[in-house]
Amino acid sequence: MSSPRQVTFEITAECPVTRARTGLLHTGHGVIETPVFMPVGTQATVKGVPQDHLYDQLGARIILANTYHLFLRPGHEAIRRMGGLHRFMSWPGSILTDSGGFQVFSLSELRKITDEGVRFQSHLDGDMHQFTPESTVDVQLALGSDIAMVLDECPPYPVTREYAEVSTRRTVAWARSAMAHYREKIRALPTRHALFPIVQGSMYADLRQDCARELVDLDADGYAIGGLSVGEPRPMSLEMVELSEPLLPRDRPRYAMGVGMPDELGEYVARGIDMMDCVLPTRNARNGCLFTRAGKLIIKHSRYKEDQGPIDPTCPCSACRTYSRAYLRHLFQANEILFATLASIHNIQHYLDIMREIRQAIRLGSLPEYLHARRSIENAADSDLE
Ligand SMILES: [Zn+2]
Repeated sequence: MSSPRQVTFEITAECPVTRARTGLLHTGHGVIETPVFMPVGTQATVKGVPQDHLYDQLGARIILANTYHLFLRPGHEAIRRMGGLHRFMSWPGSILTDSGGFQVFSLSELRKITDEGVRFQSHLDGDMHQFTPESTVDVQLALGSDIAMVLDECPPYPVTREYAEVSTRRTVAWARSAMAHYREKIRALPTRHALFPIVQGSMYADLRQDCARELVDLDADGYAIGGLSVGEPRPMSLEMVELSEPLLPRDRPRYAMGVGMPDELGEYVARGIDMMDCVLPTRNARNGCLFTRAGKLIIKHSRYKEDQGPIDPTCPCSACRTYSRAYLRHLFQANEILFATLASIHNIQHYLDIMREIRQAIRLGSLPEYLHARRSIENAADSDLE
């Protein structure tokens, strides 16, 4: 049984050459222009960046939060009692939560997957917990997530064909259980929360396609493509998106989970992706890797010691408007916490600017030219990393 749409999606422009489109995604917490990059706020904070700066100055309208972490600490029931995640963290925009499955598989040392779900040991205190398709829906509804994800299994790369088959079958079965439970629950709620199934299938083309076909039967508000960026070569991740995407309904948002580098964003968009998230802008920022129009800038390099210019002269962020490379290098070398904030602000601005440019290029019909120019910049500018 389908239910009324919890998030709605309108396509506002389509690229005549690629699969890209611009759109408006309406959630219970506002309207999001797509394609969109969602900064990652693992522990209900985009590390180092205050919510008002993220919303007012950087213009972010949706962020991602991690169910696994918030379930363990402070606990979803505590967050529910405090009015839900939006109120708890004072975030006026939309929130997408993952199901927690990915973190169970990557962070928990002890875990056991069965058809019922996954039992795992907390990486914080060693306590045992269980996630089922139904319980992760309940946790995300307690958080008040605008867009929740079904529990899935995200196998590492590479896995055998046999394992991938079993795992993909389980992911589809879990998606069905999660969706049935969600439709029961959502009827009683006055607020709007969507649930997206996740296409898996490792790097096996036919498994990806079978999975996508089966999930489409669930008639969800949107679909995610998961199991990317797990160590596979990049052309392979793009290929997996390319062959899954045409099977997903064109009129629903598609979310590529955990991608990507700045130069990859347009590549995914050209393959019909509307939503992406990645820890790279903030994680790299904290490690002193800044993304600029001219490529990556590694702030610790001695050449920036007395460099009075901004990180990126074309960047409108407050770090670039206010501080020099020399000062930022000093903060980084001195291990000052302000560095993490300024660097994260800059990298998020860079990502969101790329998305604004991509949307503009789609509207103008010039996305292929944009992608071409972007590929040449990135190829020319990787040298600072060495
Ligand atoms: Zn900047």
